[in-house]
Amino acid sequence: MRIDKYLANMNVGSRKEVHDLIKAKKVTINGKIIGQAKAQVADSDVVKVNGEQIIYQKYHYFMLNKPAGVITATEDLKQKTVLDLLDSKDLYQNLSPVGRLDKDTTGLLLITNDGQLNHDLLSPKKHVDKTYWVELDSEVTPKVEAAFARGVTLVDGSELAPAKLLIKSENQKQCEITIHEGKFHQIKRMFGLFDLGVVKLKRLSMGKLILDPNLAPGHYRELTKSELNSLK
Ligand code: URA
Repeated sequence: MRIDKYLANMNVGSRKEVHDLIKAKKVTINGKIIGQAKAQVADSDVVKVNGEQIIYQKYHYFMLNKPAGVITATEDLKQKTVLDLLDSKDLYQNLSPVGRLDKDTTGLLLITNDGQLNHDLLSPKKHVDKTYWVELDSEVTPKVEAAFARGVTLVDGSELAPAKLLIKSENQKQCEITIHEGKFHQIKRMFGLFDLGVVKLKRLSMGKLILDPNLAPGHYRELTKSELNSLK
């Protein structure tokens, strides 16, 4: 890969800024000052800018605790998107969210530029379970629990796999639900079948990836190696 692309991909600066750094003799490959932007870098080379090593990382994986009020998109002219929550230093090329949470839904959202992993996690074949915390406007009954456990059919005819519902409060309005698919407004539509309105919805986990309880809404961090391995 060309050194200017390598450095731009690692967000050292824009192409223009990277070219300026090269001209100013601030860039070395294996200790040698590089004079040309088209110089090639191999995997084993040590690249430094101003003496600081720049290690190439092709893919990036961020766990975001999505707050309410932002949309799950990469860009939008009017509304704030989940990518707007990332610092500019973390805005690598081709980042996109894995799946979609509604504007008012909060919680775990994975953001990556690894298109293959993104595709695999959403594939119906993989059936990655997703668990959500739900607050409802009225009580869930054992009838709802049993229907979800059998698998319900949405109004549009989509037949859903069995979903597990766990009631978490005495007033029976708070629960956790684990679903297998990721259909548009799926949980709201599932409860809607029984005239139950979803007041709050928060994603807690996706497969083995659990939302870090130390991440405040709107905050994010890179996945750890073991979190990443648990997804593959
Ligand atoms: N189901 C919904 O209804 N909304 C979400 O954001 C996620 C799942």
